[in-house]
Amino acid sequence: MRSQATATFLSLAFIAVCGAAPETKHAALIVDGQNNHRIWPETTQLIKGYLEETGLFSVEVATTPPKDGPMDTFRPTFSEYDLVVSNYNGEPWSPAAMEDFEAFVAGGGGFVSVHAANNAFPDWTAYNEMIAVGGWRGRTERHGPYIRLRDGNFILDDTPGKGGSHGTRHEFRVDIRDSDHPITRGLPESWMHATDELYDRLRGPAKNVQVLATAFSTVETNGTGEHEPILMAIRYGEGRIFHTTLGHAIVSQRCNGFIATLQRGAEWVVTGAVTQPVPPEFPPPDQISVRPE
Ligand code: ZN
Repeated sequence: MRSQATATFLSLAFIAVCGAAPETKHAALIVDGQNNHRIWPETTQLIKGYLEETGLFSVEVATTPPKDGPMDTFRPTFSEYDLVVSNYNGEPWSPAAMEDFEAFVAGGGGFVSVHAANNAFPDWTAYNEMIAVGGWRGRTERHGPYIRLRDGNFILDDTPGKGGSHGTRHEFRVDIRDSDHPITRGLPESWMHATDELYDRLRGPAKNVQVLATAFSTVETNGTGEHEPILMAIRYGEGRIFHTTLGHAIVSQRCNGFIATLQRGAEWVVTGAVTQPVPPEFPPPDQISVRPE
């Protein structure tokens, strides 16, 4: 009886602590500065706002020099942060910055890769392991297999071919493939995503990766006829990575499904758990739900 009372007391204390804003917010750093998506300054601000509104994160931004600029001047102190979010798709960083970032993630830092961040750094072995699969910039079978869904299981497909493409932009349904993961637990089985690019044929080392969600890339939209990985959870050393291929345009990043999964993924990479409730505006399977501007 006594131990039960103690347990009740402790669980109430736990709820009280969790219900309050954390005393110290998780320190997040968004990296940007070059991207073939010219809206990157705006999407960085969207991402920053999404993280801040959870009350869980304090967010800073580190911007590289523009193309052909002095990249040696870009060397954030990654170790001062709990997570790094990449909105970067540009020239390679300096070897020193790359080494720092590898050490940060391998040592337990969190990393979130958004949309075209998975295009960057095709020749950086560690980065490709962190994102599991990526596209464009000359990626081929040399960079690793495709992840393919066959008979309900994900397999690695070494078929030669290019890495990374997409059909026409459209609204598409995202199907959760692992509802037991903290990021996806409690989400509807599917949601209708606002107009976006449906990345396909991504390839890479595909090690230590859990595919959390896929979307079917239809031949009619110039896609592959395959269920393509859309949300992934990856381990690299002691670090956790959340990879979302979504987010091409502003409207894509205003989808309430994009927002909630980004927020949940960012929390998971830091703590390994998700405390955020699923918002009531999360899109149902058959209708988009977009945050107003
Ligand atoms: Zn795009």
